[in-house]
Amino acid sequence: MIEDFYYRALPVQVYFGQGESSKVRSILTEQGYSSVMVITTPEQNKSGLAMAEQLGDLTAEVYPHAVMHVPVEVADQAVATALNKNIDCCLALGGGSTIGLAKAIALKTGIPIVAIPTTYAGSEMTTVYGLTENKLKKTGKDIRVLPKVVIYDPELSLTLPADISASSGMNAMAHSIEALYAQDKNPIITLLALESIRSLSQALPQIVQSPENLDARKQATYGAWLAGICLGSVGMALHHKLCHTLGGTFNLPHAQAHAITLAYSVHYNRNADIEAMDQLAKALGGTSHEQVGQLIYQLNQQLNIPLALKDIGLPEDGPQEVARITCANPYYNPRPYDQAELEALLKLAYAGLPPG
Ligand code: NAD
Repeated sequence: MIEDFYYRALPVQVYFGQGESSKVRSILTEQGYSSVMVITTPEQNKSGLAMAEQLGDLTAEVYPHAVMHVPVEVADQAVATALNKNIDCCLALGGGSTIGLAKAIALKTGIPIVAIPTTYAGSEMTTVYGLTENKLKKTGKDIRVLPKVVIYDPELSLTLPADISASSGMNAMAHSIEALYAQDKNPIITLLALESIRSLSQALPQIVQSPENLDARKQATYGAWLAGICLGSVGMALHHKLCHTLGGTFNLPHAQAHAITLAYSVHYNRNADIEAMDQLAKALGGTSHEQVGQLIYQLNQQLNIPLALKDIGLPEDGPQEVARITCANPYYNPRPYDQAELEALLKLAYAGLPPG
């Protein structure tokens, strides 16, 4: 029997396919934009300059200053430049960090975003923004930060190194997994989440083996898009809260922190929503909710992702501090938690021992 539910579709126009990013100039013109700020990270500056050349006289500014977790000082500087240059569109070319900076501009100014994602993080599909101040990452929701147009071009992910591709794909997987047991879950999002989990779990091992495999890149991009819809449509749970703290307070690499912690957070929740966890196990090639943590742990091993939070920079007192911050401002989770339980979960993740 289908239970009553609420579902809200977000208004984003999506172009999906190999080579789609070559149409960006005509897409921007069609949208009526004529003064564009191209935003990238310093590492993707070259791609930003190439994009600016492609846009010709539409380019007002190339801004290669996006960094992880959007520090407020970086956001303020970008807002000032956007206003100074009188732009009418932010073109975010990159991963979640770049899209995050465009969102910070949109939040303050209302300037619309066109996003060309080059990782699998999923930010382009959400109204969620994040800003980091005094080592604390705060997130909020605002419809102004949702991109108007998203162009998914799997070709652009070919340059994403295998290790970043793997952890970024697991970051997407985390969105889809938490959507399965979200407080406001619904059957439409569950369908998308399961399709996303299947797509990512098939594509990522192929990408790690041969990063130039365009079919696998396309499948991962598709899975990541669906994961982004999940993230943008329903509330996340404990896992996302833990990762915000790991990133915001300890500046751990976002995608790797997600990949590692995911095995432990789903193991913790394995009996809290058995129907969802059975579906998850099947989508990952297993049979029972009891296996979900182990299945994610094994997938991380197969993808050569570091297994321990200590290996990506969490200090020894990190588990205690993350547990404290999480309990001080708790998130919904299908299984309740307290400081001692979270510390135990995080100590396992710190050491990289198999969950359970
Ligand atoms: P990222 O954007 O920081 O990118 C990681 C690195 O890879 C960067 O150096 C980047 O320049 C490089 N890179 C990206 N694409 C590349 C490509 N195709 N080829 C070569 N190099 C490439 O990493 P991310 O994991 O995509 O984003 C993480 C950030 O996004 C975090 O701050 C996280 O909180 C945020 N995020 C926000 C949301 C949201 O809904 N607001 C969702 C997911 C992630």
